[in-house]
Amino acid sequence: VEFRTPGALADAERWTAHNYHPLPVVVAEAEGAWVTDVDGVRYLDFLAGYSALNFGHRHPGLIAAAHAQLDRVTLTSRAFVHDQFGTFCRGLAELCGKDMVLPMNTGAEAVETAIKVARKWGYQVKGVPDGQAEIIVAADNFHGRTTTIVSFSTDPDARADFGPYTPGFVVVPYGDLAALRDAITPNTVAVLMEPIQGEAGVLVPPAGFLAGVRELCTGNNVLMIADEIQSGLGRTGKTFAIEHEDVVPDMYVLGKALGGGIVPVSAVAADRAVLGVLKPGEHGSTFGGNPLACAVGTEVVRLLETGEFQERSARLGARLHAGLDALIGRGVIAVRGRGLWAGVDIDPALMTGRQACERLAQRGVLAKDTHGSTIRLAPPLVVTEEDLDHALAQLAEVLKG
Ligand code: PLP
Repeated sequence: VEFRTPGALADAERWTAHNYHPLPVVVAEAEGAWVTDVDGVRYLDFLAGYSALNFGHRHPGLIAAAHAQLDRVTLTSRAFVHDQFGTFCRGLAELCGKDMVLPMNTGAEAVETAIKVARKWGYQVKGVPDGQAEIIVAADNFHGRTTTIVSFSTDPDARADFGPYTPGFVVVPYGDLAALRDAITPNTVAVLMEPIQGEAGVLVPPAGFLAGVRELCTGNNVLMIADEIQSGLGRTGKTFAIEHEDVVPDMYVLGKALGGGIVPVSAVAADRAVLGVLKPGEHGSTFGGNPLACAVGTEVVRLLETGEFQERSARLGARLHAGLDALIGRGVIAVRGRGLWAGVDIDPALMTGRQACERLAQRGVLAKDTHGSTIRLAPPLVVTEEDLDHALAQLAEVLKG
């Protein structure tokens, strides 16, 4: 496989830790669903920053909000209040239908926040004996990279050699309600799950699973925490993926697209009975809820309130899935997902997922493999029908070998 720009790639290879294995494309500019490399070659972006770019690269409204805020104030820390803070937090809380939010920066930080809040709620509200709180998670989860979060990962790459591990987590198979029921004890404070498992390969749980989790949580006085960092904010055709089963969790964990593809913004949203357990000094972040993040985040909330992106994802997602389903038996073994989000299992006899992505890149479409022969497709929600058809045609060509 021959790619351009060896100089830039060599620098990246030489001067950085090799904790990623990027496709050899060096992006210089981007707009909407397209990026341009340093040699002026254009690529359709079918990864969209793992869903951080739901509104596309450099959405004009988001860029305008960022520019305007850069000219006013960018950072105060939470030691003072700034004039963008309340507006953003109120808008996001209302979008989630929750009493309040706690803004952080990265997804992993928001997951950590949810874990801390659930534990504190367990001790102070539920009455779990000190140090005994248990949180149930799913096998094949992906919630981030901190030492606590990798403690309950089942992926050896993510977990091995990073111990000692944080205790207090119980792993059950994803989609298995009976296993979840059996795992709940009087010390269970929360169930933490992705409504669709992204990194695992866009795994959609069996119908009724999320509603069943809700019922078990409610029946056992356990908090249901939905990690919507990758699945939320329009990606699946609804604001939250969990809405497909009309389920409302006790806590939403949000990130990625919340920062509009411009700044890292994450948050936890919950009612006062849950988030109210935190008192001053017990949790925080220097950059969490900063003015630039809030200005961009407010515009993200405004874009989601229009419903336009959810509608696009549902409508164009149907087209994407119809196109992918048509490839089953022609190099594709299975397709999963909702809206503009798909996990595509390539016939391993043909090529690996990595090889498929390299060949797609050579044909001007950027996507990312996961776990062997699966590739996931998650274009920005501003992608056009022509773009979609183009990408599908390129995939069909790649599969022909
Ligand atoms: N949770 C889910 C479901 C994710 O997909 C990710 C990132 O891929 C994270 C958490 C971690 O987010 P971050 O990389 O911003 O820490």
